[in-house]
Amino acid sequence: MTVYNFPYKDAEFVISELLGFDQLCREAGLEDINGELVSAILDEAGRLGSEIIAPLNPVGDQKGATLGKDGVQETPGFADAYRQYVDSGWPSLIASEAYGGQNMPKVLGAAVNEVWQSSSLAFSLCPLLTGGAIEALSAHGSDELKDTYLPNMVSGEWTATMNITESAAGSDLAAVACRAVPEGDHYLLTGQKIFITWGDHQMTENIIHLVLARLPDAPAGVKGISLFLVPKFLLDENGRSGKRNDVFCVSLERKLGIHASPTCVMNFGENGGAEGYLVGEPHNGLAAMFTMMNDARQGTGMQGLSLCERSYQQALEYAKERLQGTRSDGTRFPIIEFPDVRRMLMLMKAAIEAMRGLAYIAAAEIDKIHWAKDPQEAQKHAARTGLYTPIVKGWITELAQELTSLGIQIHGGMGYVEETGSAQHYRDVRITTIYEGTTGIQGLDLVGRKILANNGEVLRSLLADIQATAEAMSDIDELEGQASALKSAVDSGREARLWLLEHAAQNRNIAGSISVNFMMMLGYICGGWVMGQSALKAARLLEGSGSNESFLRAKLVTAQFYTDHLLPRAGSFLATVKAGAYSIMALDVEQF
Ligand SMILES: Cc1cc2nc3c(=O)[nH]c(=O)nc-3n(C[C@H](O)[C@H](O)[C@H](O)COP(=O)(O)OP(=O)(O)OC[C@H]3O[C@@H](n4cnc5c(N)ncnc54)[C@H](O)[C@@H]3O)c2cc1C
Repeated sequence: MTVYNFPYKDAEFVISELLGFDQLCREAGLEDINGELVSAILDEAGRLGSEIIAPLNPVGDQKGATLGKDGVQETPGFADAYRQYVDSGWPSLIASEAYGGQNMPKVLGAAVNEVWQSSSLAFSLCPLLTGGAIEALSAHGSDELKDTYLPNMVSGEWTATMNITESAAGSDLAAVACRAVPEGDHYLLTGQKIFITWGDHQMTENIIHLVLARLPDAPAGVKGISLFLVPKFLLDENGRSGKRNDVFCVSLERKLGIHASPTCVMNFGENGGAEGYLVGEPHNGLAAMFTMMNDARQGTGMQGLSLCERSYQQALEYAKERLQGTRSDGTRFPIIEFPDVRRMLMLMKAAIEAMRGLAYIAAAEIDKIHWAKDPQEAQKHAARTGLYTPIVKGWITELAQELTSLGIQIHGGMGYVEETGSAQHYRDVRITTIYEGTTGIQGLDLVGRKILANNGEVLRSLLADIQATAEAMSDIDELEGQASALKSAVDSGREARLWLLEHAAQNRNIAGSISVNFMMMLGYICGGWVMGQSALKAARLLEGSGSNESFLRAKLVTAQFYTDHLLPRAGSFLATVKAGAYSIMALDVEQF
């Protein structure tokens, strides 16, 4: 059985054709970076992913991390794979050159992350969180903190964690209660964090925890939270890991999936206080942490896509091999010939390609902020990034639940039993709608901060861009039907936008009641946009050289399938948006 192959053709199509990567890099003055380099990098990542990391995925599922007297012991084989990952320079791919990074575009980082996440989500979370911590520290840390910690984090010699959640503070960060008291040139932290991913392990000589806590004079609520850097081992005068700091993993959660990713209860300061250093301004930790969370939110959307891809590859192979039909001459044929199995495979394929396009486009939008020629242009890209982020996180991870379930369905009973491995993807993907802000929180972020806060202007401009794609598609005869479906979807988006702007102020429950459905609607419309752009490119390329014909023809059919089977969902989500809050809120709590 094939373990996993990175879908190079589709990823490269998105990067080179949909994003116009070479042109983007030229405009950004990055002369050395082009599609050829991207292919070479993806090739290398794909090799490490399929040959070394992917085979460890079922191992980690069966033999997850354990807690012993020396702390957390990771799954056998992970340390060696992590060493190979570090030795090949992957942790530094998109980090700044100032700290030893390779300064590659974010979108390339997203594509490479797809490799790691499809190979083993549990493994990939460790470097993913380190990447987020590098971003937060780079943006908010003092020069001294950056010089001291970033080089070893960028090289992957040390990993990092994000310590936000406490037993009483999950979605509601205002309740964070961990404390930090000044002590000379540092702070002493006390308290407990729960659910901390890769909070401890033996793969590296140090672990850098970024921790939200309150100073003694902190105001109540989210305005009183500060961010601290707390290393597992304090550094000696030569900058090497020395004395053990007062932070320990005291237990591991047993959970539905990602068994190889240790989910730790972390105690700070049981023996006098964990030494920590303030990152950024006092009481402004949430802003600093948000740098990390926004990065992580798009990254979590990628996780949903990545597990769908792996589930799809496995289901496809099974569908080609499993014989269940008998022809009139008595010969048997595989289940891929049944229309309903094809429907399920096409649903997976079309949704995955739409998700991939959207996730990469959103990652490239972050690059465009950095590459902008003036502050106004940067602001435009930042606003678009803000709009994309909850859609990438919320829509992709919700849809991923359906797709990985189809991956099981295609296997029949063999999908439900653990032997084939399809069930692992379904279990592993379940967390993606929960961590980094639940789907409910993404919906609220989208509707509140990203739409109502700017009177729907950023959304208006996105819908105008989608309309422009639909207009361009209308010029090609064979895409006319798809173009008109995309225009209707844009109309649904416009109607929902106007409805929201009109009704949100009238009733305080409106935004909260409709936000997730609004987000799902926009997800399907954005997916339609991606597939529309893909069809347009494919049709134009087919008129030209004729190379890659089979892939391009399949793209046209896949876009048609998306229009027929997935895009209509935007219309039904519009209906739920317009239903408003009444039937959601009308029952008294006792009537449930
Ligand atoms: C495996 C795993 C790994 C994790 N990794 C980390 C990590 O590395 N670092 C870290 O700090 N945390 C981590 N978390 C914690 C994770 O981010 C939280 O579980 C998540 O933010 C939700 O918080 P909660 O569990 O307290 O749920 P709650 O906040 O109690 O939410 C329960 C339900 O209520 C809804 N809800 C809550 N508030 C609102 C609201 N205002 N409006 C609408 N609906 C609302 C939610 O959507 C959800 O459906 C991890 C969790 C798990 C399970």
